[in-house]
Amino acid sequence: MEKKKSTKTVEKTKERVGKGLLEELRIKLEGEKVAVEQELQKIATKNDKIPGDWKSKFPFGNSDSGSASLERQADEVEEYTTRLPIEHNLEIKLQDVNSALEKIKKGKYGLCENCGRMIPIERLKIYPAAKLCLDCQK
Ligand SMILES: [Zn+2]
Repeated sequence: MEKKKSTKTVEKTKERVGKGLLEELRIKLEGEKVAVEQELQKIATKNDKIPGDWKSKFPFGNSDSGSASLERQADEVEEYTTRLPIEHNLEIKLQDVNSALEKIKKGKYGLCENCGRMIPIERLKIYPAAKLCLDCQK
């Protein structure tokens, strides 16, 4: 086995994952990023102060909050409360997708963030934003 250290880590990722599949997964991740951002935009507003952070919107806006009945206000709060976990999950997913794309750029894609071993290709195909191998996920 060759022990010479390659300076091109990106090339190494292509060897590990396979150039064709890496490109395929990158496109998949780009698509997921757009989809998750669109989902988030429906229920949340981007926080300009903290990159990657989103704030849940109140479903009906504040335009007529002055005249809203108490019942409707209660509905809004309830709706808001159910949206929070959804928004949180989407936010985490977006972060995972972004960090996976970042790792492709840096040539570190496909490595488990905990143990540093290669995440099985089959797992990456199903979930391209995977951060951990199956052993570490448990
Ligand atoms: Zn691991």
